[in-house]
Amino acid sequence: MSEVRLIPLGVGDAFAASHYTTCLALGVDDAWLLIECPHPIRKMLREATGAAGLPFDLDRVEAVAVSHLHADHCSGLEDFGYYTYFALGRRARLAMHPEASAKLWDGLLAAGMAEVQMEPNGPTIQKQLDDYFELIPLNASTPVSVGPFAIECRRTIHPVPTTAFRIRAGGRTLAFSADTAFDPTLIDWLAPADLIVHEVTVLGHAAVHTPYEKLVALPAALRNKMRLIHYPDDFDLAASVIEPLRQGQCYAV
Ligand SMILES: [Zn+2]
Repeated sequence: MSEVRLIPLGVGDAFAASHYTTCLALGVDDAWLLIECPHPIRKMLREATGAAGLPFDLDRVEAVAVSHLHADHCSGLEDFGYYTYFALGRRARLAMHPEASAKLWDGLLAAGMAEVQMEPNGPTIQKQLDDYFELIPLNASTPVSVGPFAIECRRTIHPVPTTAFRIRAGGRTLAFSADTAFDPTLIDWLAPADLIVHEVTVLGHAAVHTPYEKLVALPAALRNKMRLIHYPDDFDLAASVIEPLRQGQCYAV
């Protein structure tokens, strides 16, 4: 039986000053999948995997799955793409639903990656997304295999196209809510997983996120296999009935 492990690299929301923003490393044997890719991804990876006693770098990352294009989830993609291209000599593998990735190049990455001038007055080389990334399209009807990981996705309630994930590896399933308003139908979709990572917020930030009170009201059997992520600085970690994930700890899935 393979050992399936989860190391949070970042656990905060978009405005967090106390933590990095939301990012997870899911591992089976020696293969790792990153879920979300905020900046500074390589530093986050070094700090969290070192603290967890399983240090590794981006060369061990099979692919990155990104839920949506808000910066707190994807601002590390330029660095991930450049590092993989220049330092590792290959393309970075990126798994996203086509609706979530529709503006990935023109709306986000092209500004920093489309034109390359290697020396002053030298020619400007035009680059495309495909030069740096192998974009793996996810879909809502069938799991998509990325190395040893089988990824399912489902749309959430959020201001930009966003998908939650169910990821199966080594005989275990991790579910990740991504960013979402409270959605009982999404909870039902996440529920069969062995471990559920759900976003949380406090009342007052609840329009596009999920209030803690809604999650606490769920059945105990569901709460017991749920862990919280994407929490704001003023979230009371010690008082939380549902266990909040901690950066740099290693969890069994
Ligand atoms: Zn978001």
